[in-house]
Amino acid sequence: MAETDFDVIVIGAGPGGYVAAIRAAQLGLKTACVESRETLGGTCLNVGCIPSKALLHGSELFEEANHGMAKFGVIAKEVSLDLSAMLGEKDTAVKELTGGIEYLFKKNKVTWLKGKGSFVDASTVKVDGKDYTAKDIVIATGSSVTPLPGVDVDNDGGVIVDSTGALKLPKVPEHMVVIGGGVIGLELGSVWRRLGAKVTVVEFLDKLLPGMDDDIRKESAKIFKKQGMELKLSTKVTGAEVKDGKATLTIEPAAGGDAETIEADAVLVAIGRRPNTDGLNLEAIGLETNQRGQVEIDHDFATKVEGVWAIGDCVPGPMLAHKAEDEGLAVAENIAGEVGIVNHAVIPSVVYTMPEIAGVGMTEAGAKEAGHTVKSFKFPMMANSRAKTNREPDGFVKVIADAETDRVLGAWMIASVAGTMVAQVAQAMEFGATSEDIAYTCHAHPTHAEAVKEAAMGVKGLPIHI
Ligand code: FAD
Ligand code: NAD
Repeated sequence: MAETDFDVIVIGAGPGGYVAAIRAAQLGLKTACVESRETLGGTCLNVGCIPSKALLHGSELFEEANHGMAKFGVIAKEVSLDLSAMLGEKDTAVKELTGGIEYLFKKNKVTWLKGKGSFVDASTVKVDGKDYTAKDIVIATGSSVTPLPGVDVDNDGGVIVDSTGALKLPKVPEHMVVIGGGVIGLELGSVWRRLGAKVTVVEFLDKLLPGMDDDIRKESAKIFKKQGMELKLSTKVTGAEVKDGKATLTIEPAAGGDAETIEADAVLVAIGRRPNTDGLNLEAIGLETNQRGQVEIDHDFATKVEGVWAIGDCVPGPMLAHKAEDEGLAVAENIAGEVGIVNHAVIPSVVYTMPEIAGVGMTEAGAKEAGHTVKSFKFPMMANSRAKTNREPDGFVKVIADAETDRVLGAWMIASVAGTMVAQVAQAMEFGATSEDIAYTCHAHPTHAEAVKEAAMGVKGLPIHI
């Protein structure tokens, strides 16, 4: 191939793209990253993981100050909310973290090509009217909100918003209706409920959180109800009308039946995300997307067009920042001639509500479908000394193992720090651990993580504390 402007061009600077670009540069490749946003970091840093976690943390402090601290003798009189300060703190975190990626690009000599990228041919990307060539091109364009026909989003002061609008509501709504009982709906619904809104979740399916273990889906519904959320399961929204700052939603049973209306002064549409592939001019390189609009790849993240690779939310698999990051590392290593692998069987997922909800590996139903005879055990957090002492009784840890080999197939948990606890199971699974391996690993006392050990002991039928 003739001399190119770069060895690698990455399109998109989210957690997939920016990590791929940095690792490619670290491996000695001359690298550019195309990003059309004003700041680097993609959905995750700008309008996703980071701002949502800032609001989850802030709103949890507010809830604790109002309802949690007094029983420990900490009396906060006249707790009040300064919403603009809370939103400001979130914006500061976003600014710091996105700026951090810009610093890392400079440090690693990654060139930021500002603008929208599109293919001219398999080794040329057009950005802002100018062509740039590279031996390898990585598509890391991420995803955006799936629209709901008839329910039009207006994130600039409108009543109906998506996740981006729900991160900057100027006042606490009286009644927020969340359409979609998935991760975004429950996280951002929790934020506004803690800050004082009545929250109603309308979910099409008969359970929340599709994809998670059934026990988790049932238990989490109980917990959210106890926290005051109204859940309308097996229900669909069929229309929306906005007038004088209020939305009137028409809902009906998912299976069909009598319609009713609900009024809300804020509506959050959170029914999933879809890959960003429009505008890339994939036709120019003869690359078609699948039925879900995703770019198909092989085990090495290569598309069927030589020299063109794809990672992150725009390829099949869970739409998670850490999955995108790991794919970013691996694709850069493959391009550099090293061996880059991601074990897609061990990708943890976490819902950052209180308590947190987390899982890794197979669900019990999935393990059975895959042909395993399964042994599992659920250890309640109520019986974990630390959770009990902290007055965090909700939830459990469930460890699922193969009945013949005892190998751990998955673990699912609801606990205040489940997002941190799940990491040990992911690591154990990477090492091919049995439930006995976890059960005989010494865990510090008193920690929430001891519940993972106890659940693993329970798989053999011998837990101590229950
Ligand atoms: P993205 O982060 O979407 O980045 C893609 C980038 O490409 C974007 O910046 C976009 O502007 C740019 N781009 C697209 N097309 C072009 C083009 N043609 N030219 C130039 N640039 C282009 N995941 C978690 O793991 N944990 C969480 O806690 C979490 N919380 C979330 C909360 C919310 C509210 C949302 C919406 C998502 C959350 N996610 C979370 C999901 C996470 O944000 C995504 O999985 C992750 O950002 C995907 O990374 P990516 O690099 O594939 O794509
Ligand atoms: P989701 O797929 O998690 O949930 C969408 C929910 O909407 C599902 O329960 C679905 O059954 C329901 N739904 C679909 N159509 C509906 C309709 N017409 N009416 C009512 N309900 C309907 O999607 P999301 O919550 O929008 O999140 C998008 C992606 O972002 C997810 O893939 C998730 O992995 C990622 N994300 C991750 C985190 C995290 O890791 N903590 C946080 C936020 C977002």
